[in-house]
Amino acid sequence: AKQSGRNQAHFFTAAMQEHANQRMTLEQDLRHALERKQLEVYYQPIITGDSGDVKGVEALLRWHHPERGMIPPDQFIPMAEETGLIGSIGEWVLDTACQQIQQLAAAGHELYLSVNVSERQRDLGLDAEAVRAVLEHHNLHPSRLILEITEGLLLQDSEETVTWLQGFKDLGISLAIDDFGTGYSSLSYLKHFPVDSLKIDREFVRDLDSDRYAGSLVTAIISMAASLELRLIAEGVETEKQRLTLVSQGCRYMQGYLFCPPLPVDKLSSWLDNYRP
Ligand code: C2E
Ligand code: CA
Ligand code: CA
Ligand code: CA
Repeated sequence: AKQSGRNQAHFFTAAMQEHANQRMTLEQDLRHALERKQLEVYYQPIITGDSGDVKGVEALLRWHHPERGMIPPDQFIPMAEETGLIGSIGEWVLDTACQQIQQLAAAGHELYLSVNVSERQRDLGLDAEAVRAVLEHHNLHPSRLILEITEGLLLQDSEETVTWLQGFKDLGISLAIDDFGTGYSSLSYLKHFPVDSLKIDREFVRDLDSDRYAGSLVTAIISMAASLELRLIAEGVETEKQRLTLVSQGCRYMQGYLFCPPLPVDKLSSWLDNYRP
């Protein structure tokens, strides 16, 4: 028994070592992903649920790994945050997306741009002044930019966070709370922050047809947003039934596979050319 115990310990150590090695390799690869031009920004349309008009797009990062193929952001953004690489990657996403939203505008599609910002980027120097410089460089009006931040940031409720966010607001940039409903935000939290919209997490949208509890949760979020005069965007809308339910409850904006998946800029441009609400 002792012998097999030792073997098992050895086995787990080897597996853990292997896991650690893989992670280190991926981390090394990520360090070079930018300069090797392996990153690409995809865009998913945000539309009005009732009339189907395209209002904006959300920028969503993709990593084309030479050996592993496409790695979804959930598998490398956390690593980018831990290592601080999210600083340079985030700057690149903002710069690229601002340039490409202007490219779309030149093709006749004037849309607003929504960009995800992690909490770590604040500590890495992303502030209103940095964003203003990028907007100016691309001649993009601040009212066309929305920054999406997660609920976690609000939980700190620090003076520092409010000041940081207010800097963007003062420029005329809008702020959205991403994945709303998954954290612990409540009405009392939201009141303290200068936010303009809430994005209802797709977890709740997914359960809209089946789960009565989730349905009522969405109802609660929608009425809360209305009382705070916040704009609402539902994520991950996949079925016509979900769309209709959301419309009937008063949720105005939506994004999801029902309308369009995230696409590279050229594909999105053709999609927009051919789109009829
Ligand atoms: P998110 O901000 O909540 O983005 C929405 C996610 O839902 C995206 O996943 C999108 O592709 C996916 N999605 C859209 N419509 C549907 C649908 O109808 N059904 C389903 N099942 N999924 C749908 P994605 O692109 O894999 O991104 C995952 C997360 O990675 C994002 O979640 C965001 O938190 C993060 N992320 C992506 N790009 C960036 C970035 O540039 N910076 C930062 N900091 N985070 C990013
Ligand atoms: Ca988002
Ligand atoms: Ca989200
Ligand atoms: Ca999410």
